[in-house]
Parts: sequence; C-alpha cells; structure tokens
Amino acid sequence: MNCKKCHTKAVIGLPRHNAAFCKVCFNAFVREQVARAIKGERMFAPQDRILVAVSGGKDSLALWDILLKLGYKADALYVDLGIGGYSATSRKKAVQFAETVGASHQATLLTHTVQEEEGAGIRELAMLIHRPTCSACGTIKRYQFNRAAIAHHYDVMATGHNLDDEAARLLGNVLHWQEEYLDKQSPSLPASVEGFAKKVKPLYRLSEREVAAYAVLNRIDYIVEECPMAKGSKMLLYKEVLNRLETESPGTKQAFYCGFLEKQAKAQPAAASMAEKDQASLRPCSTCGQPTTAETCSYCKMMARAKTGSPR
Ligand code: SF4
Ligand SMILES: [Zn+2]
Ligand SMILES: [Zn+2]
Repeated sequence: MNCKKCHTKAVIGLPRHNAAFCKVCFNAFVREQVARAIKGERMFAPQDRILVAVSGGKDSLALWDILLKLGYKADALYVDLGIGGYSATSRKKAVQFAETVGASHQATLLTHTVQEEEGAGIRELAMLIHRPTCSACGTIKRYQFNRAAIAHHYDVMATGHNLDDEAARLLGNVLHWQEEYLDKQSPSLPASVEGFAKKVKPLYRLSEREVAAYAVLNRIDYIVEECPMAKGSKMLLYKEVLNRLETESPGTKQAFYCGFLEKQAKAQPAAASMAEKDQASLRPCSTCGQPTTAETCSYCKMMARAKTGSPR
C-alpha cells in the first residue's frame, strides 16, 4: 500500500477517502481537515485566544497539538474529577504534554480540581445530590470551562469531539427525537449572550481512528483507558453500531453527520435562531452571575444540594 500523494510506503489506509498516506502526508491531511473545519464553520481567527478543554486523552491532546502547529494561540484547561487512578494518570498525561508544548509554543495549562473547589470528588458529589455521575460531571465541566474562558478573556473554547462522537450523539438525538438538542448540535456554537463563551469542535471532520493514528504517529503520550464511569453508556453502544455500519460501508458516519449539518444549515440559520432564543430566556444567576434560564443556575443548585445532601 503506497501513499496516495507521494507514493512512498503508506502507514495508514483511509477507506472512507479511498486513500492511504505516509506519515508526512497523513499529518498534512489531518491539519487540512482541521483548517477546513475552522474556516468553514468560522470558528476563530488567527489573532484569537483559544482555550482547549483537555482530558489527557488522545482527542483533546491531539487538538491542542494541531492548533499550536497551525500557529494558533491556544492554552488549555484540565478538570481533575477526582476519580482515583484514572484522574491521577490523565492529569499526569495532560501536565507532561503541557510541559512539552509549553517549552516550544508558549502554551499554558490551567487546572481545576473538583475535590478542592467543589469539596468532594465527582462520584461523591453525584451520590450526595442523587444524580448519575456523568450528569453531575457534565454540569461541572460545562460550568468550569465556561467560567475559565470568560475569566481569562479567551475568545473561544475548543473541545476534542471527533466525527465518531458527533455522529453517535446525533444518532442518540434522532432515536429519541430530542429536537432541542438537535437544534444545538453544531460544531460551532456562538457566544450568544455575554457570560457565555463561544464553543467549537475543530476535529469534527476526523474520525476517532484518524485522531488516534495522529496521536500515535506524533508520539503524543495520552491516557488510553476510558473514564471508568463511561462503561455501559449509550454513547459507546451508538459508536459500536456506527462502527459496524462504517465497516460495511465506509463513509457512513461522515454522510450521516455532515448530511445533517447541511440540512440544518438550509432549514434554519441555527446560530441566529439560538442566539435569539437564548437572549430572550437568559438572565444572571442570583448566586454566581453566570447566564441561566432559571433564578439560580444548575451548577449553583447542585452545589447547594451537595452541602445539605446525604448519600443514598
Ligand atoms: S464518562 Fe462520565 S464521569 Fe467520566 S468524564 Fe465522561 S461524563 Fe465525566
Ligand atoms: Zn506521502
Ligand atoms: Zn450560578
């Protein structure tokens, strides 16, 4: 198998593109896909400051690496969830990677430790408020990433969601006809009101396998194991189903997700309608001041319940 571009020995085959690449041409392909995503979805400009949400996993570290190599100003935030050995290892990977890129690109890693700031690790907090761990985790991460982006004056917040993540999420939303979530499923969500950072997903054109290959080929040392709380999740099931379809028919995931984005763009200018909806319903949280649709935001409600709660 030879590289489609330079005809030297290929290191990876990409059936959905009917192509194979050597390391150099594969890196160029990855950066081109990310650059296309950034331009096509108007994610950010060369002078913008970007805050990357990193978990120590392949996607977020690869995203940080690619953005820096494309010449963007990107720092990162790591949220330590306090999940035993998993958090210890993932934190180590994020810190080690930050030391490497910090030296060559002047990039900084911010950290937020749930145990210290919220008073307990994510599993204990979830037990105190009687909610599933992933739901409590989602609330905390969304809140803390947004808070850090606003407090440190970043123009945009970037996450490492790839094509597999977005296609699986779309499948879940369609299976349950969650129209509100479908409206908000976009690779680029604007900063609709003051206090909410713009959120973007520059890896949405790359599959999980392609991002993993990029990380391995570029010697990015990431945590291989998944968060233990993800076991048995619906998302993993949707990914498995889509992987089976992709094996039978390469290009299925891309056709599914990118087809949705095209239809969404034609049906309604999502960004404009969301901004209008948000502006009409949001006001500052009475406790912390972040925008919310209720009197108190879900993070502050959660923290108030955790203070008085008792584990089941
Ligand atoms: S699997 Fe659940 S607990 Fe783990 S990082 Fe994801 S949302 Fe958080
Ligand atoms: Zn080549
Ligand atoms: Zn609040």
